This record gives sequence, C-alpha cells and structure tokens, in this order.
Amino acid sequence: MRSWNAPALPNLPGHGGLPRIFDTPTGELRPLVVGDLAQLYVCGITPYDATHLGHAATYLAYDTLNRVLRDAGFRVDYVQNVTDIDDPLLERANETGVDWRDLAASQIDLYRGDMEALRIIPPEHYIGVVEAMDEIAAACQKLLDDGYAYWVDSSTDSADVGPDLYFDLAVAEELTTWYLGQESRYERDTMLRLSAERGGDPERPGKRDPLDPLLWRSEREGEPAWDSPVGRGRPGWHIECSVIGDHYLTAPITLTGGGLDLVFPHHGMSAAHSAALTGVDWSHSYSHAGLVALDGEKMSKSRGNLVFVSRLIADGADPRAIRLALLAHHYRSNWEWTRHDLEAAQRRLTAWTDWAADATDGDLGLRDTLRAHLANDLDAPAALAAVDAAIEESRSRGLGPGHADIAAIDALLGVDVAAERPL
Ligand code: ZN
Repeated sequence: MRSWNAPALPNLPGHGGLPRIFDTPTGELRPLVVGDLAQLYVCGITPYDATHLGHAATYLAYDTLNRVLRDAGFRVDYVQNVTDIDDPLLERANETGVDWRDLAASQIDLYRGDMEALRIIPPEHYIGVVEAMDEIAAACQKLLDDGYAYWVDSSTDSADVGPDLYFDLAVAEELTTWYLGQESRYERDTMLRLSAERGGDPERPGKRDPLDPLLWRSEREGEPAWDSPVGRGRPGWHIECSVIGDHYLTAPITLTGGGLDLVFPHHGMSAAHSAALTGVDWSHSYSHAGLVALDGEKMSKSRGNLVFVSRLIADGADPRAIRLALLAHHYRSNWEWTRHDLEAAQRRLTAWTDWAADATDGDLGLRDTLRAHLANDLDAPAALAAVDAAIEESRSRGLGPGHADIAAIDALLGVDVAAERPL
C-alpha cells in the first residue's frame, strides 16, 4: 500500500550512540539489539477514526526512534500495517451507511496527510491486511496442520455458519519458547479482563482456554469474506501482524512498538503466532507509548473524546507546533491534552524560529546534546529544554545559532525551524 512522502532528513556529521529503550517484558532500560539492520514493527491504525492525538503521539515516538537509529548509522527497515478489515471498522461502516472499503480508504488518506504534515518518516513497508489476505490464510492453514489450531463450532439454531479457527495457547507454550505473559508480565486475571475489553472473547463456549485468540472467522451473512484454504471468512486481529511482520522482517527483530493498550492481548498473541510459525522468538524488545487523555479520560473512539490532527491543522495550527506539543511529553507517560499544550508549543516554536532567523556558520553544539538525550529512552522533553536553554544562553552572549544546530533540530526532532510556515 502507498505510504506517504518522506520529509527531508539532513545527514549530520558523526553518529549518535546506540539508544537505550525501556523494554516492557523486562521492565528495564536496555540497549537495542541491532545487527546490520534495525528492524522495527509498529502496529498501525484501524482506519475508521484517524488520526487522533493518541495515535499521533505513538507514531511520533517511533519516528523519533527511527531518526535516532538512522543518526546512529544504522539502516532501518520499518514495517507498519493497516488493519483495514476488522469488527470496529465494519460496525462504524454499518452505523454510518458508508461502504467499509470507502470508509477505510478515506481514513487511510487522512492518516497519510497527518503523518506527512507531522513530518513522520514513512515506513519502508506499509501493508494493509486486505492485500496480505492470501498469506494470512496460508499461515492459518499451516498452524492448523502443525497442531497449533482447532475449530470451534459457530452454528446456532437460527444460522448455519461454518466453524471458527482458534489458536491453542497451551500447544504454543509446549512447542515453542514463547509463554503466556512473556511480553506483558500480567497475571491471568488481568489477562482475562483485558481480553474481554480489547476484542477477545473469553466467554465463548467451546474454546480450550478462554484466552485462546481467534485466527480465522467463518463468513457471516452481511460481512465481507475471502476464499481461503481454511474456508471463506476473514482473519483475527493478531495473526495479521504476525504474518505481515514475518513476511517483511526476519525474527527476532529489533523492536516491536505500539500504544500501551497493545501490550496484551495483541502483542502477546502476535508473538505466540509468530513463534509457532517460525520457531523463533519474534522480537528482542517490546516498547509501548503512553496513552493520551482528554478531560480526564483516555482518548478513545468509544468515548467520543477525540482531538484530531487534521482538525487542529484545519483550525490553523502549525504542524510543527503540534509536533512540539507532543514531544513535550515523554513518550512513555500517560498524559492529558489541553489547549494549553498547543499554545505553549506555538510560543516555543515562535521563539525557535525567531532565533533561527539569525543563523550563522557557528555551532553551539546542540547536536551532541540532542543525541545524548534522545539515546536515553527518547527523552524528548529534555531535548526540547536543551534547545530552550541554548537559545537563552546564546542570546545572553549575543550569538545566533549555527546552521549545524538548526540541522540537528531538524534531523533529530523533526522540526524545521528554518522553514517558512508550511502550507
Ligand atoms: Zn499489530
């Protein structure tokens, strides 16, 4: 699937260090494991309500990591999926009377525009579930052949429906190095609660373990379905990311990322599928971005309290100020958006652009300072404060910034302070 246009990325002299990133499974700050290639997988959107500030904060966190890894001298191979067929998308399409394909296409377009405006480096592979359908179905068949999957009866008195295919977690624990709780360290009670809240079906009769996730759902009347070796139907959520990830990357990859609400079941189940399909652990590291709240509640579709990037831009916000507003919060913190965030970021942007207008051939050394802060678990708030301090210091000494400082802010923080206001 087409992604979006890449921002200009200045090459800085020298290299930053290997970043240390907080790893959810171990609960520790750890240096990333990178071979010749840094392989990143970040779970993408379900395109029915793009792009609220919670999404933007997550993709910006991993954009910062992408920039840090490139600056450290690594080639980066970044994969992001689009869950362009799923229950919430179909529900929204039914509610609004819009064809699910049209809804997905329009929301993906909106997302691309938002990512481009925020100067997010596009992934190397931007893959929709629908375009990966044959591979996902083949993986379901393989899991069935290898004893990792079983059928659950779906027929009722009123409808003749084929069985649904489920993944057997106990078999995965027996035959692979993966185990339940490996990514999340959650207790079973927590897993059961989160499974019910986040698209699972722990109450469904006929499953061997209430936590066993759906692999393939048989066709239901009125729902889209695809022909496949495991019957006409459509895939469950977690197998999609496993198959797309395994196709474009080679496990174990450097880092799997996403919002905090993906820790379980999504990342746990995807890792289980991947281990069963490939025989190796999926990822060296799992990273999770905090959630953004509004008016004291998590920003989410079901609560209807979303602030959209496209709306802020349409209302006149400079996308650079939106980027600065998000970077001002550490990516792992859970925080609450208020209009003051954007006002403060706009003031900061004005101070930075005024300062950049006096650029010289000098060098205040911001490059090394920003590299050090960002290599320390992407500490963007400290990096922003360092730029503020450099401005104050240089002003007091009657110095302007150097072009080298401006390039470092652009390359590492993704904010082009020398540009005219975009759009
Ligand atoms: Zn995913």
